[in-house]
Amino acid sequence: MTKADVTIVGTGPNGLAAAVVMARAGLQVQLFDGHHEIGGGLRTTSLFDTDITHDVCAAVHPMAAASRFFREFDLPSRGVRLCLPEVSYAHPLPDGTAALAHHDLETTCARLGADGESWRRLMTPLLEHSSAVVDLALSHQRAVPRDLLVAVRFAARTLALGTRLGRRTLTTEAGKALLTGVAAHAVGRLPSLASGAIALLLGHLAHGSGWPLPEGGSSRIAEALAADITAHGGVFHTGCRIDDLRQLRESKAVLFDTAPKGLLQAAGDLLPARYAGHLSRFRHGPGAAKADFLVNAPIPWKDPDVGLAGTVHLGGTQAQIRHQEGLTAAGIAAPEPFVLVVDPAVTDPTRARGGKRPVWAYAHVPNGSSQDPMPLVQARIEQYAPGFTDTVVAGRGISARDYEAYNPNYVGGDINGGAVTLKQSVLRPAPRVDPYRTPLRGVYLCSASTPPGPGVHGMSGYLAARSALRHEFGIHTAPSLAP
Ligand SMILES: Cc1cc2nc3c(=O)[nH]c(=O)nc-3n(C[C@H](O)[C@H](O)[C@H](O)COP(=O)(O)OP(=O)(O)OC[C@H]3O[C@@H](n4cnc5c(N)ncnc54)[C@H](O)[C@@H]3O)c2cc1C
Repeated sequence: MTKADVTIVGTGPNGLAAAVVMARAGLQVQLFDGHHEIGGGLRTTSLFDTDITHDVCAAVHPMAAASRFFREFDLPSRGVRLCLPEVSYAHPLPDGTAALAHHDLETTCARLGADGESWRRLMTPLLEHSSAVVDLALSHQRAVPRDLLVAVRFAARTLALGTRLGRRTLTTEAGKALLTGVAAHAVGRLPSLASGAIALLLGHLAHGSGWPLPEGGSSRIAEALAADITAHGGVFHTGCRIDDLRQLRESKAVLFDTAPKGLLQAAGDLLPARYAGHLSRFRHGPGAAKADFLVNAPIPWKDPDVGLAGTVHLGGTQAQIRHQEGLTAAGIAAPEPFVLVVDPAVTDPTRARGGKRPVWAYAHVPNGSSQDPMPLVQARIEQYAPGFTDTVVAGRGISARDYEAYNPNYVGGDINGGAVTLKQSVLRPAPRVDPYRTPLRGVYLCSASTPPGPGVHGMSGYLAARSALRHEFGIHTAPSLAP
């Protein structure tokens, strides 16, 4: 093992973001990953012995287009083309029609009819202050917000959407389903305050910086981060799982891009009992079970306009989504679960080759479920796109339980790094003023289990690295992240 100032355990987007900051501050950085490839949730690979590639985890990147870390890092000027779909997300309805969130707000409002004006009133103030909204939602959530007015407005809207208070915000089946589909990204009981905040953040980004797909797949983001780390002297060790903190004694700072469970496994007996107790009580949410398909035609949606969308939410009406998510959160397998579908070639034509293309989909399932999601997800797509099954050349499913074997951060298949509840958003991962710093000198947690939580935004890594720079190296000025 080489000697380094900083060791990072895990090379997901947060581990990589932390490494970028530390290496650019002039420190010697080494990174370890138990997997043979870097990237964590950002891997893209061929699954069916063809040159068609599939995103194993994340596929769509509203937060990588908008977060403060990625705004400064500037993916496009590093050669990562962020392809924007004309329709950010679509929501087919049981009657065969669909609600569409166009990138263009006015087109969305026009199609929403009676709810058009309400949608405009909801989204416009957020879009006018989008950077402040993003910085607020993707912050460490432990300090007084910089822009108080934006914070108060955001909180009021979250309260309305996250409780029964907001039941009159939208009145049509299409409008209600469209927004509830975004709220369901929180994966849990609906409505809830945390899901309301997610609906506002992702919902307004759909009409702002957009819901892009990186040309060539999500691994392009990991590659750009890794190139920067290597250029600043960082060293990667893959296929090397860290199970004992004592292996890393040489480094002044160790940042764990792991779930609390991973930190407990590596350092449990060294951590003060009180803090270890908080980590062991950390709650995980429902799981995700993924289905990947190789198909020979675009998905034959009943409403052809759905075929313009980067992301498609299959959950039916608002009442149906709430029912499915309630069952899943209670640990009961929903017969018709909430499913997210992406046909990447719609947005990035380079993903289709020789008449074949990938289809990415996952279903919300109870935590730890071992059910093969393939038949369920295929049936769900078929319901809204009759004939889909005839286009399938190959497919594979990963159950929620198997997801944890693939990446130990997905405990029981929880891809959000912990239940997305208001309490756990504020107290993630433990009730501490600095959520990243553990009571062990030089040891930090920097994964999605720390604020601001799930998604590819790099902010947990960025903020943990800033804390470690200050406390372990006396560096108070953030290094430039610009190319
Ligand atoms: C199916 C699916 C779809 C998703 N879709 C999206 C999406 O479209 N958009 C979006 O923004 N987000 C999406 N996400 C969520 C996103 O991928 C995660 O929020 C994000 O990757 C979390 O980043 P992270 O750096 O905290 O951890 P991870 O990306 O999980 O990376 C952690 C890394 O640490 C390694 N590791 C763990 N323990 C150890 C150890 N002890 N020793 C060495 N290495 C270790 C793992 O191998 C892994 O590489 C999705 C996730 C899944 C699974």
